Amino acid sequence: MIENVFSKADVADFKLWMEWAGRFVVVTHISPDGDAIGSSLAMYHYLAGKGKSVSVVVPDSMPDFLSWLPSTDSVISYKEQKDVANKLFQEADVICCLDFNVPTRVGNVSAEILNSNAKKVLIDHHLDPGNFCDLILSRPDASSTAELVFQFICALGDYAEVNYQIATCIYTGMMTDTGGFTYNSNHPRIYHIISFLMKSNIDKDAIYRNVYNNYSESRLRLMGYVLHKKMKVFPEMSTALITLSDEELKDNNYKKGDTEGFVNLPLQIKGIKFTVFLREDVEEGIIKASLRSVGDVPCNRFASAFFNGGGHKNASGGEIHNSLKAAEAIFYKGMEEWSKSDEECIKQLFKKSE
Ligand code: 5GP
Ligand code: MN
Repeated sequence: MIENVFSKADVADFKLWMEWAGRFVVVTHISPDGDAIGSSLAMYHYLAGKGKSVSVVVPDSMPDFLSWLPSTDSVISYKEQKDVANKLFQEADVICCLDFNVPTRVGNVSAEILNSNAKKVLIDHHLDPGNFCDLILSRPDASSTAELVFQFICALGDYAEVNYQIATCIYTGMMTDTGGFTYNSNHPRIYHIISFLMKSNIDKDAIYRNVYNNYSESRLRLMGYVLHKKMKVFPEMSTALITLSDEELKDNNYKKGDTEGFVNLPLQIKGIKFTVFLREDVEEGIIKASLRSVGDVPCNRFASAFFNGGGHKNASGGEIHNSLKAAEAIFYKGMEEWSKSDEECIKQLFKKSE
């Protein structure tokens, strides 16, 4: 069976809540990705199957590229339906915080969570979880929060309830947070879990196609523009930078989510171990930074030191409240600082490749 990664006491606490609690709210982070939505909807289906009243709240909006997942119509946008969401938080018996480690990752929703009298559980795989929940199920070594939700359902003794819907959502979270099982995906446990998910008759090939072969024509053209005109490669720093202004995005028919994955593209170049993508987001009034790295290079440290962010060692992000030009200058300043580091994990970027 699936190894239990949770303490008996934590599992027993949640089981007790399940006995008396009727109303659950599942909440996940801003700009939710496949793992945020996959883990949240898996939890939704599990709790609904247990006869609970359950809602999923996202701080901003549900990304289009995941709209095919089962029951996405039940996802409530806090930005668009604040009153409805507030009422749900106020009346909730239990709030499940999925795929984020600190309240700032849910924007305005953080006040609703912190002020609520509901019991709160955090299920997450980011480093350094904040102490804002009654139960903190944080496992930074997990591939994804979706993986943890599956393990949690098993720990609760409910493996038999993992149906097609739950398994589809879990597989989607695991697949997207590992780039289709191409990074952070070496643990045998991952494939053990997948073999269980396959027993629920999920169509993993269709899930792959739904996520990765379902883009708009304008996204692909924008990607072409980025690769041709906007990707700066610095072989002497094993690094690449991509920037996109609001004007460039508009010129290319940009829709939310169209730049998903662009940050990974330069990693296809031999020798590139660190990439940064800066996108002007006029709506939010920020420059959004996405960072990726390979092996020991800690891109989350660059994100926290220079872009007010953080995340995982190899996948992180942040934001700058300034112009795109200023954000680009911060990148160069950061690289200059890193070039003076005497830590091997950083120094390796500046070594001449043979
Ligand atoms: P992405 O580049 O896909 O938007 O984000 C990759 C990872 O970076 C996320 O899973 C999350 O862990 C982290 N991340 C993204 N944006 C932020 C941010 O603004 N602040 C922090 N602390 N982490 C972020
Ligand atoms: Mn995740």
